[in-house]
Amino acid sequence: MRKKLVAGNWKMYGSLPRNAALLAPIRVAAEGLACDVVVCAPFPYLGQVQSLLTGSKVAWGAQTLNEYAEGAYTGEVSAAMLGEFGCSYVLVGHSERRSLFGESDATVAAKFAAAQAAGIRPVLCLGETLAEREAGQTLAVVGRQLAAVVERVGISAMRAALLAYEPVWAIGTGVTASPAQAQEVHAAIRAQLAERDAAVADEMRILYGGSVKPAGAKELFAQADIDGGLVGGAALVADDFLAICQAAG
Ligand code: PEP
Repeated sequence: MRKKLVAGNWKMYGSLPRNAALLAPIRVAAEGLACDVVVCAPFPYLGQVQSLLTGSKVAWGAQTLNEYAEGAYTGEVSAAMLGEFGCSYVLVGHSERRSLFGESDATVAAKFAAAQAAGIRPVLCLGETLAEREAGQTLAVVGRQLAAVVERVGISAMRAALLAYEPVWAIGTGVTASPAQAQEVHAAIRAQLAERDAAVADEMRILYGGSVKPAGAKELFAQADIDGGLVGGAALVADDFLAICQAAG
């Protein structure tokens, strides 16, 4: 039985007072939640998040990282740096990183490997654009994105990772994939892993992301292969985020 997990992606939102006000009720409520809870904050706030969440049931992480250990990469942040701020998770391959910042499958795989080398659990995001879905390429695109990472790190490394299926057309649009649409892709992802290792496939937590809101979350999380959510907009509103966590309960 896979324990459900709900991760919040704050994207480039937040301020010191807003973060403190958001995290205070989440920290308290997490004590009574059955699912794992994670918040992924912008880099400058990781120290604040660490000091507000240490000793709580809420884990935290970042939204990306650089694949190199150190060097002349102005503006970039390494996995080891994230580790110093207590990050246990990091998003890799979020569609905004792929589309706005030109991250290729190979770069995403390198970032995934760098996170794991530093003991940080990557949350590998996979998803197709609307045009790709309409062209019937959903499973091919998601399969290609996953294969690029599995080929680089090996199937057993996937044990220390999570996957998130995030259809690009559902992110920040208010359009959620239907439970059946999401389940179909989640099942295909798990089947792809099972071709290499049935146990890894069975243990893998595959989150759904894309306009998850309190209404509808329960039905999504009730699908056989949906193990929780990656939540953007609703993660910035404590009541909404907690209601989604309850739905995963
Ligand atoms: C995300 O940022 O990964 C996301 C799924 O955003 P939203 O929930 O706002 O669609």
